Amino acid sequence: MAQDPETKSRIWNHHPDLPIPVSPILSWPPQPLAWLKWISAYWLTLSAVTVELALAVVVYTWFQPSWDEMQVLALGWAAQIWLRNLILLLLVAGGLHVWFITLKGQGHSLKFDARDQTRHNGHFTFRNQVADNMFWSIASSLSFWTLYEIGYFWAAANGYAPRISAVEHPVWFVLWLVLIPIWSSFHFYWAHRLLHWPPLYKLAHSLHHRNINIGPWAGISMHPVEGALYFSTLLVHFVVPSHPIHFLFHGYVNGLNPCVSHSGFEGVVARNRKRLNTGDFFHQLHHRYFECNYGTAEMPWDVIFGSFHDGSEEATRATRERKKQMYT
Ligand SMILES: [Zn+2]
Ligand SMILES: [Zn+2]
Repeated sequence: MAQDPETKSRIWNHHPDLPIPVSPILSWPPQPLAWLKWISAYWLTLSAVTVELALAVVVYTWFQPSWDEMQVLALGWAAQIWLRNLILLLLVAGGLHVWFITLKGQGHSLKFDARDQTRHNGHFTFRNQVADNMFWSIASSLSFWTLYEIGYFWAAANGYAPRISAVEHPVWFVLWLVLIPIWSSFHFYWAHRLLHWPPLYKLAHSLHHRNINIGPWAGISMHPVEGALYFSTLLVHFVVPSHPIHFLFHGYVNGLNPCVSHSGFEGVVARNRKRLNTGDFFHQLHHRYFECNYGTAEMPWDVIFGSFHDGSEEATRATRERKKQMYT
């Protein structure tokens, strides 16, 4: 994990090899082997998406209200959905926070930004970064995530949203699982670019960007306008035939993934070895330089639409130039 001092950037405590790689998914001419390698790195390892899919299966099997019950909007099953999302958020964001920040389980090893979370700063609600992030994650984002989920299950129970069975449509069941993170990334790219339109940035998205040095609770710390827009990715299930596992998985990709990717650490280290990939340097750059990397590292939207920051000083200069043009 030691880095060559010649290539190590001066402004980061740790960073991956630079420039950061570009996703080959939409490369031309097609590179099927590179695609397979890239996709298998996400799907055939213990990664955020595989854990989220396992969670979706567990929740659907053991913690799902019955279709009959969900035909009528009622506080009981709606509260159950809110509670299970809250518990998952507390487990993922809270668990990573306790390991990385409270216990300092691995010190500064693989930590991108050497600084600690901010306290006694009027920039944040309650003058405390973690309390601010927890409040907005739970009061704002979790509410919209849960509202869309309640709406979807009520609509699916009444036949207003198209449902499929995994046994009758096994190919579509698997294909849609692979497509969901790609759709979610595409939706995020455009919703996020819209949020960087100066009036919307000032009104809503600046709240998420209070966090220059990010931590797990920063992931879905969002203004309600951003929370509503960000989780609107889930509305696709009102149109595209889905199984409940698709919806739950999609919710976890959007609700839990950001807590992992905002952790501020490249991975969980135990006994001197990286055991699990967590942080996302690609998005860490967005929090440092703002007008770049609006999408996610798995998909090349930023490369295609000209907003990619590869971690180099040259890319920092180009990003600063773009920011100047946007705000003049
Ligand atoms: Zn962020
Ligand atoms: Zn942003």
